[in-house]
Amino acid sequence: MWWLGDIRESLECWERAYSGFRRRPDPAQAASVAIQLAVIYDANFGNHAAAAGWVARAARLVDEHALEPLRGWVLIARATDADPGQHEAMARQAHQLGRTSGDRHLELCALTQIGVALIDQGRITEGMRFHDEAMADALAGEGELDTVVFTACEMMDSYSRCAQYQRMAQWIRAADRFVERYGCPYLNASCRTHYGEVLFATGDPDYEEARLVWNDLIDKRPALIARCAGVGDVIDSVNFARENDLLMAVRGGGHNVAGNGVCDGGLVIDLSPMKRIRVDPERRTVRAEGGATWADLDRETQVFGLAAPGGKVSETGIAGLTLGGGIGLLRRKHGLSCDNLLSADVVSADGRLLTASETENADLFWGIRGGGGNFGVATTFEYRLHPVPKSWPPP
Ligand SMILES: Cc1cc2nc3c(=O)[nH]c(=O)nc-3n(C[C@H](O)[C@H](O)[C@H](O)COP(=O)(O)OP(=O)(O)OC[C@H]3O[C@@H](n4cnc5c(N)ncnc54)[C@H](O)[C@@H]3O)c2cc1C
Repeated sequence: MWWLGDIRESLECWERAYSGFRRRPDPAQAASVAIQLAVIYDANFGNHAAAAGWVARAARLVDEHALEPLRGWVLIARATDADPGQHEAMARQAHQLGRTSGDRHLELCALTQIGVALIDQGRITEGMRFHDEAMADALAGEGELDTVVFTACEMMDSYSRCAQYQRMAQWIRAADRFVERYGCPYLNASCRTHYGEVLFATGDPDYEEARLVWNDLIDKRPALIARCAGVGDVIDSVNFARENDLLMAVRGGGHNVAGNGVCDGGLVIDLSPMKRIRVDPERRTVRAEGGATWADLDRETQVFGLAAPGGKVSETGIAGLTLGGGIGLLRRKHGLSCDNLLSADVVSADGRLLTASETENADLFWGIRGGGGNFGVATTFEYRLHPVPKSWPPP
């Protein structure tokens, strides 16, 4: 269940398994289940108290029944709360226990934890060597399938803390192939929700494609393209650009003729993966993410016989068009796109997520209705919808 992404159901199964092993009694199995429960409470629910309780339970079983190889897992679970120096020592001890007991899963997870501890001590190059080794082995099929999830998630957190985005992106691509082969929605969601994709000016075909915009005459070469999967990626990208004094451009649908959605030498915040749309047919409103085009939006509103006033062609982005005003086929009856904007979520230059509407941050709301894209990164737009014939244009 955990592998398929149903974390709550899997938690219940693990808890039942723990009780079963205690009754049998099978202390070794009970201790490993307790450790698994600690990992789930910590990683999936952020419940450190419950996680600590399960680690304590496992540690007691390990001590009472001298379950030596499992001591390594207790060390790993406890190491994350220790200071970086102790963390490293505990992870090295766990690594040794993994080697002597032949537990390859433990060995690779311990290598990952040594990497985490070294990076947290500022020993970045050394730490990356451990992460890279653990990832290479895990993806080559050493250890267990779970090893890939553990090593990949810890590596992503660690590399993002020390801003090693290029290396992280390379491993995410390698992990993508693993996800395709074994179908692990959890890992996929973790990679794609928390981290979209970062493309670098390296001549990579994905980069070459991502820097292109509608106007073929535009030939700009950004240093980085952050393909954002969600608001978290946008906030991280804005903060990264500000802290590193980088020029920044925002790309919605990429239809700006002057090519303002890309820049030379800076960071492009590419919203094109962000296309989630939700229509509320009762209230006649729609919320759409900043990477949607009018075709994406019309597809969702049309089934309810509703439309938000857009432009004349459906391939332009809702973001740039709305921020610039938006003159379209419904203008005479319902006004411009910006007249129908009810609210927008905007990431400001200092990395805060603001809501702009008539009642919240009203001055920002005034600015984004026609003022263009310089007020922040608009991640979500909420529009008023109007009834239209279900097939448009009408026959
Ligand atoms: C073929 C074609 C047809 C068109 N038809 C119409 C039309 O009928 N009516 C009309 O009004 N206009 C029309 N336009 C103009 C179009 O609306 C603008 O070019 C608009 O900027 C395109 O939006 P985009 O998101 O696709 O562009 P992008 O190039 O991605 O962005 C345009 C500008 O907005 C900024 N921006 C984009 N997304 C965001 C965001 N989420 N937050 C903050 N800033 C952002 C960018 O940085 C850039 O400065 C047309 C353009 C083309 C090429």
